[in-house]
Amino acid sequence: MRRVWDIPRARIQPDPSAVWEQQGVPAGIDPGPIADIAREACQLLASLSAPKGILADIDSSTFAEIYPGRGQNSPRSPLADIHPRAEKLALFAVTVGPSVSRRIDQLFGEHDYPLAAALDAAASLAADGAAAWVEKQFSSHCDPGQGVLRYSPGYCGWHVSAQIKLFATLKPEEIGITLGESCLMDPLKSVSGVVVAGPPAMHDFAPNFDFCAVCADRQCRDRIAHVLSAAKKET
Ligand code: SF4
Repeated sequence: MRRVWDIPRARIQPDPSAVWEQQGVPAGIDPGPIADIAREACQLLASLSAPKGILADIDSSTFAEIYPGRGQNSPRSPLADIHPRAEKLALFAVTVGPSVSRRIDQLFGEHDYPLAAALDAAASLAADGAAAWVEKQFSSHCDPGQGVLRYSPGYCGWHVSAQIKLFATLKPEEIGITLGESCLMDPLKSVSGVVVAGPPAMHDFAPNFDFCAVCADRQCRDRIAHVLSAAKKET
C-alpha cells in the first residue's frame, strides 16, 4: 500500500525548550536571551511549514536490493542484521516543505545567525517529528506485539548512497522531495528511510560498531529502550 499525507502542522511543532536544547543548552539551565530567539523561530516555523509524508510498503527482497546502495555501507551495521528478520517493511519520506529551508538560507544571508540557527534547529526537530508521525501511522497497521522503528541512510553504517534506489522505488518527488547528486535531499529539512516491524528484540544490539566510537548522542539507546517498553505495555 502507498499512502501520502499532509501532516498536521501541530503534530510536528517543537517546543521552544526543545529548540534551545537542540542548540546545546542543557535541560534545566536558564537559556537567557536564547529563549526569545527560540520562541521566534518556532513562530516562524509554524507560519512557514507545510509538512508532507509518503509511505509505501515493500517486500524484503526489494529492500535487500535497496540496502547496499553503491556498496559503501560499513562492513557491519545494525540494519544489515535487522532487516532480514523484519516481518513488515515500508519506505518513507517526509518534509517540512520548501519555505522553511528558503527562510533559513535567507536569514543566514542577512547575517541574522542566531535566528537562522534557531530556525534550522527547530526545522530539524520538526522533520524528525514528521518522520515519527509517519512511523506511528505505519505502526497502527502492525500487530500489537511488533516492535516498529525507522532507519535512515547516512546513519549508523548505512551509507547515504542508498538514497538513489530508495528514491527510485518510493518516488517522493510526489510530495516535493528531490535528490541531489551528493544524495542530499531538497528541501534539506526532509527525512527518508525504512520503517521496520518485527519482534521487538530484533531492534536491540550492542553499540560496538567501528562508527560508534565517534557517535556523541548514542540515540539508538533511547530508541531501543522506547520500542522495548512499548512492546512490554502491549503484552
Ligand atoms: S551508538 Fe551511535 S552510531 Fe552507534 S548505533 Fe548507536 S546511534 Fe548509531
